[in-house]
Amino acid sequence: MTDGDQLLAGTTRDLQEREARAFDFGRVVRRVPDAVATPQTVTEVSKLVRDAAQAGIRLAIRGGGHSQSGRSLTDRGAVLDTTGLNRVQPAGPEVVRAQGGARWGDVVDALKGRRRLPQVLVDIGEVTVGGTLAAGGVGTTSHRYGAQVENVEQLEVVTGAGERVLCSPTEDAELFDAVRSGQGQFGIITEAWIRLRASGARFRQYELHYRDFERLADDLDLLVETSRFDHLRVELRHHKRVSVLLAGLEYDETPDENRDLAGLGHDELVYTRDTASVGRAGMYPSWAFSWLHYHPWRDWMLPWETLPTLLAEPPLHPESMPNPGWSWTGFYPGGRGDIEAPLFMRPPQKRLVLYSILAVLGEFQHDKTVEFADKLKDIDRELVGLGAKSYLSGQVDYSPQQWQQHYGEMLAPAVRWKQQFDPDGIFHAAGMPFGP
Ligand SMILES: Cc1cc2nc3c(=O)[nH]c(=O)nc-3n(C[C@H](O)[C@H](O)[C@H](O)COP(=O)(O)OP(=O)(O)OC[C@H]3O[C@@H](n4cnc5c(N)ncnc54)[C@H](O)[C@@H]3O)c2cc1C
Repeated sequence: MTDGDQLLAGTTRDLQEREARAFDFGRVVRRVPDAVATPQTVTEVSKLVRDAAQAGIRLAIRGGGHSQSGRSLTDRGAVLDTTGLNRVQPAGPEVVRAQGGARWGDVVDALKGRRRLPQVLVDIGEVTVGGTLAAGGVGTTSHRYGAQVENVEQLEVVTGAGERVLCSPTEDAELFDAVRSGQGQFGIITEAWIRLRASGARFRQYELHYRDFERLADDLDLLVETSRFDHLRVELRHHKRVSVLLAGLEYDETPDENRDLAGLGHDELVYTRDTASVGRAGMYPSWAFSWLHYHPWRDWMLPWETLPTLLAEPPLHPESMPNPGWSWTGFYPGGRGDIEAPLFMRPPQKRLVLYSILAVLGEFQHDKTVEFADKLKDIDRELVGLGAKSYLSGQVDYSPQQWQQHYGEMLAPAVRWKQQFDPDGIFHAAGMPFGP
């Protein structure tokens, strides 16, 4: 699409709109789209896709833009921004229906007072339902429920042919398998039926500090095994030589601290925080993250058995982390949910760790950012050697051989699904290995 081309109906070439979608949260890649579409209805989405196919224009699907690989960006086509598709509708005690562009914070807010929450929430409210289902979606309750892609009952998808299809494990199951963790390559998730769980009335979080990695690893073994806490997150403050376990409980009756912490080997209980807002309580506030910084980030799913090694010998030397006060290394204990999601690549074990190295660099640290991103590539090879699979939100630019290693026997079906669901290659390939 060039400036001379006719504008696709429903898109704009307004420079401000295009510049606003030229970066993602990583800020490392800049791509200014030729045009931007912000459809408000699924009918508009279908029409846009059909018109784009006819005009030979590629579309990059963008939700909240919080991924870091440039996957929601394009400079050779239009960005289809889903955030106008933001309706959320509770559908009984077991399920909430949310459109693909709805943000998880809005989903939680729509459930206020119902004592129900999605089984897995991610740790910020600004990312969209379609955006995290296209990645995986791991959070503080993943030790119980696995990933978000394993906790949806049904999806509505607009395929590359512009068709609006309802898919589930029993209806159009291949499309259901392709779009979950499909990185926006097979279709646009326009609505999701998300499984709910009962939630407590209030939330308590204990911040426990550990200076002994073995004790932390042992405690996590115990906590995951016994499911004592509803929420678990670990922050590794290597620069302060301390690991922080954030253990959260949802409750009706005031919890008993002695019972909750019995038998644990932490060095210090730094605080106990009680709050009445359960849904957002496990999330970081939006002001904790700035779009002005560079974020060379990587995440991996690792077998649980690697935890003692990750803790005792961190793959990134503590002194190599830039701006350690702002940056973040940490992990969520993970598990498996009830529904298989074949493109959510992870080690075969039942118990897993989502391990993240999230560096934050200032506006004038571009060279350092590139240097650090290279270091993360070396770490990736090391962790893959330990059995890791990359979580594809971060800055992943694999070679064809590395993609083959990543997807293994799922690569061939995914290439076939690309031909089946996006035959004209309408969805911008964004460095993914599935085809045009
Ligand atoms: C501060 C921060 C905290 C985070 N915390 C977590 C966390 O706790 N757990 C976790 O799992 N992840 C986390 N992430 C990663 C984030 O969840 C993923 O990057 C997610 O994909 C971003 O969602 P988004 O709506 O911003 O999507 P975008 O970044 O806009 O898009 C991501 C990918 O999804 C595709 N896509 C977007 N919408 C759709 C749709 N409707 N249909 C099909 N494809 C679509 C895009 O084409 C792109 O490939 C975090 C990211 C940030 C910046």
